[in-house]
Amino acid sequence: MMLFPPTGRWRRVAARALLALTACAFAAGAAAVTLPQARSVPGGVVLLDLGASSVAPEVRVGASAAAGADDAAAGTVPVLVVGEPARWIAVVGIPLDARPGTGEVTIRRAGAADVRHAFTIDAVRYGEQRLKVAPAKVDLSPADRERFERERAHQATVIATFSAAAPSTLRLRQPVVGERSGTFGLRRVFNGQPRNPHSGMDIAAPVGAPVVAPAAGRVIDVGDYFFNGKTVWLDHGRGLLTMVCHLSAVDVRPGDVLAAGERIGAVGATGRVTGPHLHWSVSLNRVMVDPALFLAVAPAKQRR
Ligand code: ZN
Repeated sequence: MMLFPPTGRWRRVAARALLALTACAFAAGAAAVTLPQARSVPGGVVLLDLGASSVAPEVRVGASAAAGADDAAAGTVPVLVVGEPARWIAVVGIPLDARPGTGEVTIRRAGAADVRHAFTIDAVRYGEQRLKVAPAKVDLSPADRERFERERAHQATVIATFSAAAPSTLRLRQPVVGERSGTFGLRRVFNGQPRNPHSGMDIAAPVGAPVVAPAAGRVIDVGDYFFNGKTVWLDHGRGLLTMVCHLSAVDVRPGDVLAAGERIGAVGATGRVTGPHLHWSVSLNRVMVDPALFLAVAPAKQRR
């Protein structure tokens, strides 16, 4: 079946579409950087072509309202920039609570005034998920509420990590073998009560299944949290972080430097869960984005 009508205009459109696709992998020094899939929706990733310059431009974005009051001013959160002097690309995470419309980043080049750059955020409709868990994990006791608030403040400091070195890759490995669910972004209702949307990917796996680093990185946090259970955060560079939750065992400590595929721990059912699985989150510029965008694209049979 033909993809486009054989008119000159459509051939040009097709050629442009092909260019856009091939632009996803480009040379950066000796190594090729593979970019995540772009999806300009709440919880997605937008790729901004910054063009050529000898030094990478600095890009900043306003904080998500959910990230706390400290960074509420626009243009305060550093954004991941990858590439080389011939072409720099900003990889911007869009908060799940962003409104469809226009997003904006501030671009700073050496010796030039700041430039604001707008991009479109398309609407997306995520489904709803109804879950039944232990009542104490939904209606929190005063002590649990206090614990959760403490942990939330701690997580806000962890997610603000921004290290100077660029990620070794933006193509991540699935951290555990198992069936991926498409649960990112779902509005969640626990025991009949609406709660925050699901900000990660759940992967079905039995207790004890090995969990590995999705890319090279440094362990920046290990904890046992009220909702997330036993949790490990990795810093992959320039604000690209990953988090795995509900573990039964943790084999790493803060400061450990891991290669891609190195063991972090084992799947479990700690925290607020309905059963054993791995919860995996990916964060860019302090917002959780869809991990599926960083995994290898769908098999060829699903593409035209
Ligand atoms: Zn989850």
